[in-house]
Amino acid sequence: MDCSKCGGRAFYARRYSGESLCPRCFDESIVEKTRRTISKHGMIRRGERVGVAVSGGKDSLSLLHVLHRLEARNGGSLVAISVDEGVAGYRDEALKHAAEASVSLGIEHSVVSYKELFGFSLDQALDWKDEEREVSSCSFCGVFRRRAIDLAAERAGVSVVATAHNLDDYIQTFMLNLLHGDVARLGWMDPSYADGGFAVRRVKPFMEIYEEEIALFAYQTGVPFQSVSCPYMHEGLRTEVRDYLNRLEGAHPGIKNVVLGSALDVISRYARAEGKASLRCSECGRQSSSPVCGVCRMKSSIKQHVNYTG
Ligand SMILES: [Zn+2]
Ligand SMILES: [Zn+2]
Repeated sequence: MDCSKCGGRAFYARRYSGESLCPRCFDESIVEKTRRTISKHGMIRRGERVGVAVSGGKDSLSLLHVLHRLEARNGGSLVAISVDEGVAGYRDEALKHAAEASVSLGIEHSVVSYKELFGFSLDQALDWKDEEREVSSCSFCGVFRRRAIDLAAERAGVSVVATAHNLDDYIQTFMLNLLHGDVARLGWMDPSYADGGFAVRRVKPFMEIYEEEIALFAYQTGVPFQSVSCPYMHEGLRTEVRDYLNRLEGAHPGIKNVVLGSALDVISRYARAEGKASLRCSECGRQSSSPVCGVCRMKSSIKQHVNYTG
């Protein structure tokens, strides 16, 4: 099998496009695709300093590598940002990979912990939360992780943070919002939404790349990454949606690209119609979709409990 681009020896067949690619052309195609996504959605400005959220898994370490390669062309600089949620026996290995990758690429690395920012680790918070089961561990942790990344970005002096969400993550979230009846959240998914007055813009440079291609890129690049998933991971419906989309893709190569196109179309129309107004949290003053933000609501419940038992 010959590479469709250079005629060399292909190792990967991209079913949705019919191309066969050699390692070098595949690698270059991932970097080029990322560059186009960034430019199409105006994610990063020329010469801008960019925070990269690095958990230490394959997606985020690949993102760090790709942005490092694009950095030279863009003339900006990077800072890797990691959040230590405080999960005993799990987080340390991932943080080690994040730190080693940053050192090897010569990128500044900043680590913030839940403990230092909020006063409790995820282990402590979930001890309490087990009694109130209405929120899943992941959505619970996600609320705090987003805030932690904002705070870390402010500390590092960056106004934009890139996260490693890939095409699969993006369309799963789109479908989950529909399945949960959370249509109002669609506006928040607009790739250029974050320009609406937020202190820290969020961008997803991998949002047009299949998860399996990011995994292949990570193996090709040879970076060590953490493959064990979080012990608290419980994704429920997301796993079913992921399996369903993978089955569809198997039978109809390219259908995930079609879903992404439709999602972006719906989201941009919705975001335009809704406008970009949002409230401010009455407790912390940060932007929020409700009068008291999710972080402040969860934090006060946790603190009550921690004080009560401790
Ligand atoms: Zn080639
Ligand atoms: Zn708040």
